[in-house]
Amino acid sequence: MVLDYDVLSLNVGSTLNPPALEGTHVLPLRPLGGLRVAWEALLAELAQAPLRPLAITAVGGGAAGVESVLAVLARLRALQPARALKAVLVSRSVSLLPGLPRAAARSAQAALAAAGVELRLDTNYNAGDAPASDVLLWAAGAEAHAWQRDSGLTVGASGYIRIDGHLRSLSHPNVHAVGDCADWADPLPKAGVYAVRMGPVLSRNLRAALGVGTPQAYLPQPRVLALLATADGNAIASWGPLALRGRWVQRWKERIDGDFLQRFVLQPHPVPPTRSSPVPRVST
Ligand SMILES: Cc1cc2nc3c(=O)[nH]c(=O)nc-3n(C[C@H](O)[C@H](O)[C@H](O)COP(=O)(O)OP(=O)(O)OC[C@H]3O[C@@H](n4cnc5c(N)ncnc54)[C@H](O)[C@@H]3O)c2cc1C
Repeated sequence: MVLDYDVLSLNVGSTLNPPALEGTHVLPLRPLGGLRVAWEALLAELAQAPLRPLAITAVGGGAAGVESVLAVLARLRALQPARALKAVLVSRSVSLLPGLPRAAARSAQAALAAAGVELRLDTNYNAGDAPASDVLLWAAGAEAHAWQRDSGLTVGASGYIRIDGHLRSLSHPNVHAVGDCADWADPLPKAGVYAVRMGPVLSRNLRAALGVGTPQAYLPQPRVLALLATADGNAIASWGPLALRGRWVQRWKERIDGDFLQRFVLQPHPVPPTRSSPVPRVST
């Protein structure tokens, strides 16, 4: 499909390119929409399958790898308590949760140990010689969509669209890009908190590009709150150098996430009856 534009806004996120493995359910953690469909399909298949032991490998020791392997184990244990599960998390980093404080990494390590996850740090996952797995959770960071490199837009070394402070492409000022698909000179972590905060600035700047109002510069917040669910009723909070784990953190996370999602629930608007338009009748 070819679409013409005067002003373009790219918000296509990031992706992952996991290995295709015969006999293994490979679940890439990005794009998130595809993950949900693949996970529900796997659960439906497991519900019909014999209760033989299941080997799960998670690749990636960042927040997504830790959260997903813990969530998958908790869900499977709740649905099929009689099924034996073996889980391993492989990461080429020397520590868990790079970029977060060490106390957060220690809490994550304790949660993984309590859930029975074997941890292999400083290890490069190689599909050719890795032990066979029934489920492979691919959480090895984020990758730019391949087409971005061929788009003619200026991209960084990793293929993300380089943008200026007004969220415009460095090479094409009538193209805006935000969130995971975009990069500053000093790249931001691929986190939703940045994508979400860019939204209102993007909205204003798109209007400005169409001649309404003035553009605004986006200033990323210097530090962000990270809340990681450990699927045991607890969550880990990290803010700057501080990290805490507890049930209250999980309740806090649920409240923040719930309030955010609530903003996108469409409420039905009652249509007031008008005198000129008679109420339609349904024929039976
Ligand atoms: C498991 C996991 C947990 C995470 N938890 C957190 C968290 O707790 N806090 C946090 O801040 N961040 C978290 N993140 C990161 C966060 O999800 C991303 O940074 C955020 O979603 C990026 O938003 P985005 O709008 O740029 O991209 P996305 O949310 O990926 O949205 C991109 C959209 O574009 C669509 N799209 C892609 N290509 C095309 C195309 N060619 N045509 C049309 N549509 C297209 C996709 O279908 C998708 O709907 C998590 C990520 C993962 C994987």
